[in-house]
Amino acid sequence: MDYISTRGSAPTLDFRAATLAGLASDGGLYVPVAWPRLSAEEIRALAELDYTETAVRIMTPFVAGVLGEDDLRRLCAAAYGRFGHDAVTPLVQLSHRHWLLELFHGPTLAFKDVALQLLGQLFEAFLAGGDTDITIVGATSGDTGSAAIEAVAGREHIRIFMLHPEGRVSDVQRRQMTTVLAPNVHNIAIDGSFDDAQAMVKRLFGDEEARGALTLSAVNSINWARLMAQIVYYFYAAVRLGAPDRAVAFSVPTGNFGDVFAGYVAAQMGLPVAKLVVATNVNDILHRAFASGDYSAGAVTPTATPSMDIQVSSNFERLLFDLSGRDGAAIAGMMDAFDKSRAMTIPADMLRGASRLFSSARVDGDAMALALRWAQERGGQIIDPHSAVGLAAARDLDIDPAVPVVTLATAHPAKFPDAVERATGVRPPLPARLGNLFDREERYEKLAGDYDAVKAHILAEAARG
Ligand SMILES: *Cc1c(COP(=O)(O)O)cnc(C)c1O
Repeated sequence: MDYISTRGSAPTLDFRAATLAGLASDGGLYVPVAWPRLSAEEIRALAELDYTETAVRIMTPFVAGVLGEDDLRRLCAAAYGRFGHDAVTPLVQLSHRHWLLELFHGPTLAFKDVALQLLGQLFEAFLAGGDTDITIVGATSGDTGSAAIEAVAGREHIRIFMLHPEGRVSDVQRRQMTTVLAPNVHNIAIDGSFDDAQAMVKRLFGDEEARGALTLSAVNSINWARLMAQIVYYFYAAVRLGAPDRAVAFSVPTGNFGDVFAGYVAAQMGLPVAKLVVATNVNDILHRAFASGDYSAGAVTPTATPSMDIQVSSNFERLLFDLSGRDGAAIAGMMDAFDKSRAMTIPADMLRGASRLFSSARVDGDAMALALRWAQERGGQIIDPHSAVGLAAARDLDIDPAVPVVTLATAHPAKFPDAVERATGVRPPLPARLGNLFDREERYEKLAGDYDAVKAHILAEAARG
């Protein structure tokens, strides 16, 4: 499979190069040159397969030319063998028509593990035997940092530096990063905000001295391989609810538009998806975009669902590319204009195309808390606030009652115990496999919010090996 940029002018790459590159050199995002299609018969046959075999079936066309089916099977088995549930992403029934797809059984209790565990395996496989060491540098406000660290800890040819704002991530989130003591893991607490940390990372990627010394890499959800891994659970869930002979709707708590874009890809591949609900919190740029074409960034409002507190959703560009008829020049023009004015209007014909599959909802804190209580009282489940945003949107969806509605449960409730306790009166305990998190040794560097100090630290540590 070849990969092309959404902005039309970066070189076409194979799967290996697209995975290692992350962002395209023209500022665009890599997408497959065409969506592979599965026949109804092929989808029906998935019902017999476990998660890992489903993953192999779904992803084989995307990695063709770089990885064979057996290589892919080995990497998937290693990635999903670390999950705490035999089904990897089990379905739980909440009511006669509402279901939860639990995506939080990985090592760090958020859905990002599903993609990052595989990405860690892919990086290691692609770098094995070579003499290139890559240096992953990222900033995190919580979930991405721990999932990325768990994915690459102890792997050869990779080191990771993760910056977090000191005192502004939860204790669980910090400990999930700082208690990983593998020598290739470097945690840095910055005296500053998440935006300060993010700005330092961006500056480092543009810093010639740093780029000369290190092969820098990113693991955020602009990386195609992450989205590819997320397509799998849409198929896995839908066939268990009767696909391809019955259509299924999905409600997706959305931030960077990565997870819900994977659902769009599943639909392009032939999965009968009745509706994809883009559920946002009060940071609602995507809801405004789908409802009225108004894609304009404002200031971020902090909420009880921090992983959805975003201004701009990078992966939305991938959908716009398809809606434009895959016109890279048009997307380059739109995105340039957006970068200058922080606002754009989605053309009416593109919006009409999107509305066949997508709907959207904005869920405020009260509606989120109500959904959390509904899940507790009616469904017998304690869920996390992000999942509750998705569930609130799912319950408002006006759709044929014969269609099952699956809400993606993106985090374990124990990751956000305060918000869950406020809504339900129940403080969710950490799962047993993480039970001693609070007894483990922590290791991290505290640095001032000063770019030169952070850069010097990263260069010095990287030079040590
Ligand atoms: C990252 C994250 C999201 C948002 O996912 P996107 O792919 O960015 O839309 C939602 N919930 C949780 C718990 C997350 O960690």
